[in-house]
Amino acid sequence: MLEIDGLDHSYGRHRALDNVAIRVHPGEVVAILGANGAGKTTLLSAVAGLLRPSGGSIRYRGTELVGLRGHQIVELGIATVTEARHLFGPLSVAENLSLGAFTAAARAAEPASRDYVFSLFPHLARRRSQVVRTMSGGEQQMIAVGRALMARPSLLLLDEPSLGLAPVIAAELFAALERIARDGTTSILMVEQNARRALKMAHRGYLLSLGRIVGEGRAEALAQDTAVAESYLGL
Ligand code: ATP
Repeated sequence: MLEIDGLDHSYGRHRALDNVAIRVHPGEVVAILGANGAGKTTLLSAVAGLLRPSGGSIRYRGTELVGLRGHQIVELGIATVTEARHLFGPLSVAENLSLGAFTAAARAAEPASRDYVFSLFPHLARRRSQVVRTMSGGEQQMIAVGRALMARPSLLLLDEPSLGLAPVIAAELFAALERIARDGTTSILMVEQNARRALKMAHRGYLLSLGRIVGEGRAEALAQDTAVAESYLGL
């Protein structure tokens, strides 16, 4: 459903993405693994319409995304949780979630979507009236994922969802992501430095190094590959 081909991006003379090709099929969880500076955020930003790549093509269900604006890409069914989260601190949990339901289809389904998000994150349900700026990093990450789901995406893009979270909170978040994946209507493309965790839930993975795809395969195979283990699993 997502077909990325020949994707290039340069910041001035620095080549951040070099001829990247990636596929995400319906119902799949795909992980992109890479060290700091590998180009992971640049790649997701290009898919989400947050930056215009220097070259290449990103097709979603046959529609070319390069050149479209971020909100048009959300309307096509792709929602993104960026590293920066961009939550509205003075607003409550429930109000932040509502902001995610901005397309016409999402607005119509808002109550059902909210129930789904609260079933994934019961903790948020209990705190629905709390203002977001007073909440922990882990809670804010759950709200950011919840807000993306309110758009009723068929593809969810996640930029380092576990970054900076305590291990127990990261585990809770990944459990919710696994449930989203199992529910089957939303495919997931995530970039993660926590390669072990990401490969546990992903079907397939790609290895990104200095802007190039240097490996790809089924998640179990990548997790067992010693070269991958040395470079990405911190062994
Ligand atoms: P991290 O895990 O540290 O977030 P990343 O894999 O997401 O890294 P990117 O943020 O995509 O990597 O950056 C890829 C490369 O492009 C890095 O070398 C980075 O310094 C450079 N870069 C990113 N954004 C800019 C920018 N706005 N201007 C110039 N260089 C940039």
